[in-house]
Amino acid sequence: CAAAAVVLTQRVKVRSQKYTARKILVEFQEACETPLPRLRQVVDAMAVEMHAGLVSEGGSKLKMLPTFIDHLPDGNEKGLYYAVDLGGTNFRVLRTQLGGLEGRVIKQEYEEVAIPPELMLGTSEQLFDFIAKELVSFVAREGEDFRLHEGQSREIGFTFSFPCKQTAVNSGTLLQWTKGFKVNDAIGQDVVAALQGSIERRGYKMRIAALVNDTVGTLAGGRYWNNDVMIAVILGTGTNACYVERAESISKWGGELPKSGQMVINMEWGNFWSSHLPRTYVDELLDNESLNPGEYGFEKMISGMYLGDCVRRVLVRMAQQAGIFGPHVPHKLLEAFTLQTPDMSKMHHDDSSDLKMVAEVLKTVYGIHNTTLGIRKIVLAVCDIVCQRGARLAAAGIVGILKKIGRDGSTANGFIRRNDVNGIHDELTVNSIGGSGKTVVAMDGGLYEHYSKFRNYMQQAVRELLGDAAKNVFIELSKDGSGIGAAILAASHAEYVPT
Ligand code: BGC
Ligand code: MG
Repeated sequence: CAAAAVVLTQRVKVRSQKYTARKILVEFQEACETPLPRLRQVVDAMAVEMHAGLVSEGGSKLKMLPTFIDHLPDGNEKGLYYAVDLGGTNFRVLRTQLGGLEGRVIKQEYEEVAIPPELMLGTSEQLFDFIAKELVSFVAREGEDFRLHEGQSREIGFTFSFPCKQTAVNSGTLLQWTKGFKVNDAIGQDVVAALQGSIERRGYKMRIAALVNDTVGTLAGGRYWNNDVMIAVILGTGTNACYVERAESISKWGGELPKSGQMVINMEWGNFWSSHLPRTYVDELLDNESLNPGEYGFEKMISGMYLGDCVRRVLVRMAQQAGIFGPHVPHKLLEAFTLQTPDMSKMHHDDSSDLKMVAEVLKTVYGIHNTTLGIRKIVLAVCDIVCQRGARLAAAGIVGILKKIGRDGSTANGFIRRNDVNGIHDELTVNSIGGSGKTVVAMDGGLYEHYSKFRNYMQQAVRELLGDAAKNVFIELSKDGSGIGAAILAASHAEYVPT
């Protein structure tokens, strides 16, 4: 239609050329800086907020959600189990035949599909019907290599990568949506009951044995192979961490203490906030235009859903105030979330002398032609600043957890220490919860896996922060661990216990 065509060709004039791109770059760089002392303040703030979030409901922006997982897999799990995994971008169904300590994972199959975008903004019924439909058709294709125990119904681990307030290992209500989702009528619903309902309406009988955050699935999947796994972190579309806490430190826990004395805590660290975080105009603008304004500020500085948009917003400023892309601001550049993090990563990893890839991305994504090498270098520098800030903040988060559980090397192993952070005294027995003195962080997520400069900056910052203690800390990629982890948790929380 004619009206739309007019709007599309209308171009935004550069406001005034009162700044140079260089000046905008330097100011942004300074605002994003994370020198070691500042990073240490973030580490301490993380440990303090963790403590506060465990003491009382709403005691911190860190939700510190008890997961009801009080024992992790040990390798003895046996039988056929399913998992469904609803994450940030993809949906996966899988089945696995577990053979116990000798056989471990005998056989495993999975299917993955992109989540249809309209479902992310639709109704609860549409979303859960989609999951149930995919699951049921996957089950229908179960081959002969997979065997249920006699009398066993199919049991499922449900990985749901959003904050839920659990009331049991297999029930929990959705607190809020994050990332690209906004399915309003699901908030406050028991997501297990919703999925169970959709499965039953299709005439199938399956039991959801465990509701599992993706961090928790990754922790369980990591622990299945390695006893030293104490923490799991996701750096993907969104970001989050969980860890094994001493149950008696969870003062807000009303119920009976688990026999194991332990409980996995889903931190929801995406919502962490501290005045020490290097917040800029970019973060404010991005937050305003996000689906969850005012929420998940840490996630918005770190994760894959947002990094590209941080870069884009700096480029917009440079286009408007310094005219880096000519006399008009390219139309599409003004659209939120048009620069995706994989494209940012492509530009950032461009090591050609004339920055061919930077030019290529600007051309294909925004129709920007004929950039000078000088401009391309500035674009690359913006990618570097945004990437480095996110990676170093993620590192500070990890070290904050290590500090909280007494594994950051600030005291010798095996001794009672006082974890004295900003006046909060937290008595911890180092090694009180398992392990060999080594601490393994199970890591998953496309950002960490595919964006190697991000990964390198993060590892470097962890080493800087830990110093000598870094030799006892191992960050291990546990690719797609959340799905298999959920299936293993379904096994360890199954109704049917094989003899
Ligand atoms: C969600 C978390 C999830 C993380 C990684 C965040 O947006 O709130 O529950 O673990 O993304 O997928
Ligand atoms: Mg995932």
